[in-house]
Amino acid sequence: MQKNIVIIGSGVAGLASAIRLGAAGHKVTVVEANDYVGGKLTAKNIGRYRFDMGPSVFTMPHLIEELTVISKQELKFEYLTLDKICNYFYEDGTTLSAYPDKEKFATEVHNKLGETKESVYEQLKYSATAYELIGELFMEQSLHKLSNFLNLKTAKALLNIRKLKLNKTMNEANNARFKNKKTVQLFNRFATYNGSNPFKAPALINIIAHLEHNIGAFAPKGGMHDITMHLYNLSVKLGVEYKMNTRVIKVITENDLVNNVLTSSGEIKADIVVSGADIKHVYTKLLDKKYYPTKILEQEKSLSGLIFYWGVKKEFQELSLHNILFSENSEAEFNSFFKDKTPYHDPTIYINITSKVTPTDAPEGCENWFVMINVPHNASGEPIHYVKEMRKQIVAKINRVLKTDIEQYIEIEDVLDPYLIEQRTSSSGGSLYGNSSNNKYAAFLRHANSSSKIKNMYFCGGSVHPGGGIPLGLLSAKIVSEMIAEKS
Ligand SMILES: Cc1cc2nc3c(=O)[nH]c(=O)nc-3n(C[C@H](O)[C@H](O)[C@H](O)COP(=O)(O)OP(=O)(O)OC[C@H]3O[C@@H](n4cnc5c(N)ncnc54)[C@H](O)[C@@H]3O)c2cc1C
Repeated sequence: MQKNIVIIGSGVAGLASAIRLGAAGHKVTVVEANDYVGGKLTAKNIGRYRFDMGPSVFTMPHLIEELTVISKQELKFEYLTLDKICNYFYEDGTTLSAYPDKEKFATEVHNKLGETKESVYEQLKYSATAYELIGELFMEQSLHKLSNFLNLKTAKALLNIRKLKLNKTMNEANNARFKNKKTVQLFNRFATYNGSNPFKAPALINIIAHLEHNIGAFAPKGGMHDITMHLYNLSVKLGVEYKMNTRVIKVITENDLVNNVLTSSGEIKADIVVSGADIKHVYTKLLDKKYYPTKILEQEKSLSGLIFYWGVKKEFQELSLHNILFSENSEAEFNSFFKDKTPYHDPTIYINITSKVTPTDAPEGCENWFVMINVPHNASGEPIHYVKEMRKQIVAKINRVLKTDIEQYIEIEDVLDPYLIEQRTSSSGGSLYGNSSNNKYAAFLRHANSSSKIKNMYFCGGSVHPGGGIPLGLLSAKIVSEMIAEKS
């Protein structure tokens, strides 16, 4: 039966939910506080340069293709398959390139870091096995439904779980496999793909490397923002209505049922509400206090980011689309984030340059640099005071490692920090991926995709199950739409 469904927020999960629910025949209205769609997955033109402002790593493109198929629309989404994943730079001058071609990558790790090729193959096999065993259980279905634990696949996963070294941290497992600290640092870095600490996160988080190293690394042809625009265009074709520049102020319930959504431009009647906004924002600002699930919302938050967008009047041949300049002391860096709650003075720097694959993103002879370091989430909610100081550290490190004087080439600049991320997306403390995965029970301590108390309220997006990042956000929309279909 057709329902009036209100979706809060047009982040990637809100957009994917709109497509799935619109295609199922429901009347869908998306209410978005900003004057643009996409939430964190947005872009900006500054002078002669185009920048993706948020996500830059694109994996699992089949999840986008699935939405195109479901929508039955003719719109095309084009992307490139990358033959290089990332260039890595260490302070002592060691450099290394990661390739999706396993043989080429293992040879590179052997030649540059002295590991056996077999150790690399075993690592990639571990992440593939983990994905095969528990990927579906943890990522594609609700963890809060008993029936999902009572099937053959789950039984097999639970039987094989010992193979996944659940009692080790990611760092312990990677140290046991590799002899060179630099290799450990390289594989540990995948913890930051969901904003976690490899010295605390379970070995299972090595599953993330499977996406780039075994499935493949990709780049949308026109930049990451193409994802947002493609999903938005599909949903519009399905008749989804957008109320832009409109903030949801209250979700009004009666007898534990939502019946109205109060927005900055009036009330909207709703049979069902799907929230794609940060879960803490929803419970603290939009719902009655009696629903507040304290334990889940007080979990440790994932990392945030400090990003500089630079128009650079020079081409750097040693850089590719994705580049990492590692910190000298990774453990001290993560302790700084999660224990001391401060940025680290020698940060790992990520430089993304989309003009390497989409030359129109920068003028000829120039490059569009997205320069990001991880920083703790902003618990105080106050404006960030360390931007200038960290910019100094970043510039010094880039100059040191790339042997350049980067300041003289920067012709335009913009900045994003945890405070601004929260202002623009309502993400708690500007965390990028909701809760961290810094303990082995984290997956079970993420909020479910439906409310246990409000019968017609659902949740999708990076702060709920199955977790942060574009692929998991898309999967949360799938879980939500399946739950709604079951009940309708
Ligand atoms: C700098 C950065 C780098 C990242 N890098 C990557 C990466 O490389 N790869 C990757 O996969 N992921 C990455 N991520 C994470 C990824 O962007 C997010 O996990 C994902 O985009 C979250 O999508 P979402 O659907 O949860 O919603 P969000 O993008 O958080 O959007 C929520 C939307 O809801 C709206 N909203 C909130 N409250 C209200 C309200 N009360 N009323 C109306 N509207 C409301 C907001 O305005 C916003 O548009 C990165 C994020 C950032 C910021």
